[in-house]
Amino acid sequence: MTGIASETKQNEMGLSWGKAALLSLPMLLLTALLLLHGHNLKDPLQAIAAGITYLFANYIFFKMLRSGRTHRYRSIFFVAASVLFVVSFLANMFEMRGTMELSTANILDGEAPLCPLVIPALLIPAALTQTIIFPGSMFAGYAGVATMIVLWIGFSLAVGRGWCSWICFFGGMDEGMASLCKKPSIRSFDQRWTYLPWAVLLAVVLLSAATLSPAYCEWLCPFKTVTEYPAVNSLETGLQAVIFVSLFLGLVIYLPLKSGKRTQCGLFCPFGAFQSLFNRCNSFAVRIDRARCVDCKICLKECPTFSLNEASLAAGETRSSCTKCGRCIDRCPRGAISYHIKGTEFLRHPKTARLLFLYPAFIFMAVIGGGCIFGGLLRLLKLLTTGSMIG
Ligand code: SF4
Ligand code: SF4
Repeated sequence: MTGIASETKQNEMGLSWGKAALLSLPMLLLTALLLLHGHNLKDPLQAIAAGITYLFANYIFFKMLRSGRTHRYRSIFFVAASVLFVVSFLANMFEMRGTMELSTANILDGEAPLCPLVIPALLIPAALTQTIIFPGSMFAGYAGVATMIVLWIGFSLAVGRGWCSWICFFGGMDEGMASLCKKPSIRSFDQRWTYLPWAVLLAVVLLSAATLSPAYCEWLCPFKTVTEYPAVNSLETGLQAVIFVSLFLGLVIYLPLKSGKRTQCGLFCPFGAFQSLFNRCNSFAVRIDRARCVDCKICLKECPTFSLNEASLAAGETRSSCTKCGRCIDRCPRGAISYHIKGTEFLRHPKTARLLFLYPAFIFMAVIGGGCIFGGLLRLLKLLTTGSMIG
């Protein structure tokens, strides 16, 4: 029964081959323009990396449309982008500085790319002092401050906390680890832990405003472990390094592997909590059809970010932390969960609602994740052909 119901759902949301091909055309054109812009395709390695990225992105989008499954294909692209982001980021750092260490001089020279996770901490200081307290380059470099902020505003208005499952390369690491867990030995977390990201957000925003420095970046970011970290040359920087590595091992490796949940995203990340606010002011939501639901609670177990609980299920809604990843939609055996456009009649046009969500979500994913995939592939191709990723 479960299998049959699940199949029915896939058929309901999936499109015929012809329709899926037709609706994939805009993505084929857009991704072609993206890859033609700013890449030297006369260089054989760049041309190969661009070609693979292009085919991969469009295969994923076509499969989403054809199969009706969102999470399965999104996750493949999301995790691949995250792994290749690390490859290309580290290769860039070693090429630029020969080390993952970030010195004070590097920071003052604006060499640090803007990490989106510090955005909430920039807002109060920027309003009070007209200064962006993250000393990154405004336009140039790996991720200029202005470029990142424009992308963040555009994506947040389009799909809200969807950021955390469609763009964030850090979320992709958490998701990749969680997906390796086949039999969770940690089966539940106290609901009260889901408020911790809000507490971290409040602390980080206040501390950053008081000290005019990006407190999260300086003290709490687990991802320093796999990107760049301050040179360890004092008790303070040693302590910071211990915190970064401990949080990375605990929240991004151990707990996801043991629980199958995205614990960094769901139980700690202040940027994730901040993005939840945008779920309230954008047009898309994930809703549950109470008439179809049989209260099996599979969706509660499946949600990786703790965005469903008994109360939200009874209300037919997801919590504000929903990252619109589509996993509960794919896994519900009754096909009771769907993307929804706020202000329209629920379930009147569920396929259209899904399509209208998938276009902006995937376009942003192709822009950022596609860039990571291209950059990482290029480094791997260099390694294969020259024996070194850099130079
Ligand atoms: S919405 Fe959740 S509880 Fe209801 S049938 Fe689907 S998986 Fe089960
Ligand atoms: S409620 Fe569903 S769509 Fe939202 S984060 Fe959880 S699994 Fe993903």
